[in-house]
Amino acid sequence: MSSTCFLCHRCNKPLKISPDLSAMQKRSLEAQHHASPSAKMPVSGKLEDRTSRRHHPDRGRTAQESACCPFTLLGEPSTQRTLDSIQNTILETFETVSGQKDVEHPLCVDCMDGLLEELDTQLTLAEADNQKYKSFMERESLVSDEEREALNAELLAELQSLEQEEARLTQELQDVDHQHARIEAELKAAEAESRELEQQEEQDLKDYAALKMEELELTDELSSVENQLAYVQKQLQSLSKTDILNITFTILDEGPLGIINNFRLGRIPDIQVGWNEINAAWGQTALLLFTLSKIAGLQFQRYQLVPCGDHSYIKSLAGDEMLLLFSDGSHNIFYDNKYDRGMKAFLDCLQQFVKMLKKEEGLFLPYRIHVKGGMLEDATGSGKCYSIRTHLNTEDEWAKALKFMLTNLKLILAWASSKYYSKK
Ligand SMILES: [Zn+2]
Repeated sequence: MSSTCFLCHRCNKPLKISPDLSAMQKRSLEAQHHASPSAKMPVSGKLEDRTSRRHHPDRGRTAQESACCPFTLLGEPSTQRTLDSIQNTILETFETVSGQKDVEHPLCVDCMDGLLEELDTQLTLAEADNQKYKSFMERESLVSDEEREALNAELLAELQSLEQEEARLTQELQDVDHQHARIEAELKAAEAESRELEQQEEQDLKDYAALKMEELELTDELSSVENQLAYVQKQLQSLSKTDILNITFTILDEGPLGIINNFRLGRIPDIQVGWNEINAAWGQTALLLFTLSKIAGLQFQRYQLVPCGDHSYIKSLAGDEMLLLFSDGSHNIFYDNKYDRGMKAFLDCLQQFVKMLKKEEGLFLPYRIHVKGGMLEDATGSGKCYSIRTHLNTEDEWAKALKFMLTNLKLILAWASSKYYSKK
């Protein structure tokens, strides 16, 4: 005997048939085989034929299985709608509607439970509705015509009131809609403004960062400049204490010749100093007097000192003439030459400076200066004078005059150094 296979109509799970049901099916099959065909064919054809040709979701079922389970499938899709199949469908529909046939739905236990619960709920609702209808019917039968009219009037008034309420609520709803639209527009505007503010904030943050960077750079720069200033002030303080005159100018007068900054000024027959050295010594001497006059704030009369190394000279303010403080030895010693006039002019300048200093206290110069003759007087008190010019002069006397002049300058240098630099 072939095993019968059913599927649940809802979830398509295969159904396990209980032994009792299987026996029932078997008996049913045998009964169908022996039953009279006229009882099963009220309209036309055999029921077996109908059921065997019926399309079922389980298309693998044999005609015999379909015959033992004649489940009703209303409106089932069919690929071959023949007149016979249409008649079968109509017949089954008629039988079902007229209660001549029980509808069988194979369902699994879970689906069956669910279906029963659903039917229970529907039943409960139907019973409640039934109860309500009954109570209404009872009340309706108790009410008189006057009361009904009064009730109708009351209900009509209530209806009008509710309609007015509805109109009012509709108006209110429209107002709320308008308000909603307005608020939505305001919200959009606020959002746009917010976006704009965010962009502005972003830009401000960028600007702030740039300014902060600039500030840091400027702070660094300021710090650097302050360091430089502190260093320079320290240097300045140190230099202020420095005796620039003593460092720059050194005068020696121990030997037969006066020496300034290692350059000998003058020459004697035994020591023939080169003219280049003498010129350089004159340049240093001129620079010393020029510097002293600047420090003391003295403006020379008649002359202007122009210290220029070994080509220094003195400019006469009267005739704009250049009086030389350098020579190559070729000047005419028998003539009042420019070299001699230059040295004489220098002595004049020195005398002007000494005259200014003599107003101060504590300065004593051993050698008197005679500007008119271009002479320096010996300090021994003998009254002997030595000419600073080469005109009609000997090298010995010229060198002596120059050395006396340097000695005077050395004392002036020491005095000026103590006056202008020792206090600092
Ligand atoms: Zn199921």
